Amino acid sequence: VRSLASTALRSLFDSLLVPSCLDCGDLVPSLSPFDFPVCAACAEGFERILPPACGRCGVPLPAAARAAVRCGPCRTHPPDFRRAAAAFVYGGPVARIVLRLKYGREAWLAPPLGRVLAAAAHASGLGAATAAGAVVVAVPLAPARLRSRGYNQAVLLGRAAARTLGLPLAADALARARDPGPQDHHGRRERRERVAGCFAVTTRGARVVEGRPVLLVDDVITTGATASECARVLLAAGAASVDVIAVARAVS
Ligand SMILES: [Zn+2]
Ligand SMILES: [Zn+2]
Repeated sequence: VRSLASTALRSLFDSLLVPSCLDCGDLVPSLSPFDFPVCAACAEGFERILPPACGRCGVPLPAAARAAVRCGPCRTHPPDFRRAAAAFVYGGPVARIVLRLKYGREAWLAPPLGRVLAAAAHASGLGAATAAGAVVVAVPLAPARLRSRGYNQAVLLGRAAARTLGLPLAADALARARDPGPQDHHGRRERRERVAGCFAVTTRGARVVEGRPVLLVDDVITTGATASECARVLLAAGAASVDVIAVARAVS
């Protein structure tokens, strides 16, 4: 009986030591290529955003592009944030993991993804936004969605990134002034118009961001319209600069 109990304990112990793949759940015996456990098969589906990328919004550019050049949309309508970066192209296993975090009540996914955010912010050279004196702010969720979900995934990601970077998190610096409604099927211009006036800096938020570089955290950057609008109100409230970091960015 005793050996059976110890065997059970041992296998429990092993399963705690050998991490499971974040996407498929298989055990990952060797080191994954990312900052979180992922098996070799699933790792192939993760598409890192590598240079060259737009120097403003971080969208990947053709290989022939010069580093730090701006993409077409950023030249015609520069965003209000200084720079945005993301760890991965949105799709495949990255999309599945983000959707589980957002809609599957799997809040435990936020800490490993938050560490990915912190590493991507460093690797993308977001500079002042990751240095001492900066503050981490999360894109807020509509109140109704926050009530039904129970948490704001951007706040959970921001908390983990802030801890890794050694920065404070101002979880309630931004609030939704109104809901832009579903964003999924709109073009760039319409998204920009729909998010105008949707966000506000709270009284406490204004005190915290005044004069400081802000690292704005979101789960996914789609067109950058939401991040740009958040940056606009943060800058108006006195933030020194706003840089944006996300787990993934959509690439059309
Ligand atoms: Zn896997
Ligand atoms: Zn751009």
